[in-house]
Amino acid sequence: MRKKIVAGNWKMNKTLDEALALASEIAEMAKDEVRSNATAVLCTPFPYLVPVLRVLGDGSSISVGAQNCSAHEWGAYTGETSALMLASLKARYVIIGHSERRQYFGEDGPLLAAKVDITLRAGLTPIFCCGEPLEVREKGGHQDLVGEQIAAGLFHLGDAQIRKVVIAYEPVWAIGTGKTATPDQAQEMHAFIRSQLAKKYGDATASEISILYGGSVNASNARELFSNADVDGGLVGGASLKSRDFVEIIKAAG
Ligand code: PEP
Repeated sequence: MRKKIVAGNWKMNKTLDEALALASEIAEMAKDEVRSNATAVLCTPFPYLVPVLRVLGDGSSISVGAQNCSAHEWGAYTGETSALMLASLKARYVIIGHSERRQYFGEDGPLLAAKVDITLRAGLTPIFCCGEPLEVREKGGHQDLVGEQIAAGLFHLGDAQIRKVVIAYEPVWAIGTGKTATPDQAQEMHAFIRSQLAKKYGDATASEISILYGGSVNASNARELFSNADVDGGLVGGASLKSRDFVEIIKAAG
């Protein structure tokens, strides 16, 4: 059965002290209150991965992930961070192809495919992001675009590899805007993504892949969004920076 996952994307926010306070509040609340089966993940800035892992402690139910990684394994790539480094410090997840990286850093299909490969080779779980800008949705091209994004980034993978991938559908117009996709819009797109996976890999494999929704998820709308058959949790930006809100979202996924 596929996993329910709630991943917080902290983006480029918080000082170290603030980040550690946030992580320990989430860990405390989760220990006392969360009885759900959902996997919780904190995708922190690179410099906070190790200190956050220390705060969570060995055996924590909360995993840690990065927001990006290099398309290369090792070497002369100044300023880059390798998936193998992330694995060595015990991060478990890496967000790949967030719309902000596509938009501001020019990340495209071939580069993201290489990042997915390297993440899997390092034994990490890629959270592969896809989603359409507003003008594409307004012209009715959202399914075509998202279909192209997942084909370009993922469809070179074999069956065993694709089963290790998590997909996050994040309509660009809903990220950080307070404008959430309706539960019907989310379900329609998630079902479409699963149908594309089924066409390529068959129903059994498609039904094993977690597809998260991202875009202004908060403590009030999470339960309704996550109640859709093909929505397996969320990738959460703004609301993951508030411990109480994030814990409520984890609970909503359980
Ligand atoms: C995100 O950055 O992945 C995201 C979904 O942000 P927000 O929840 O703030 O819309």
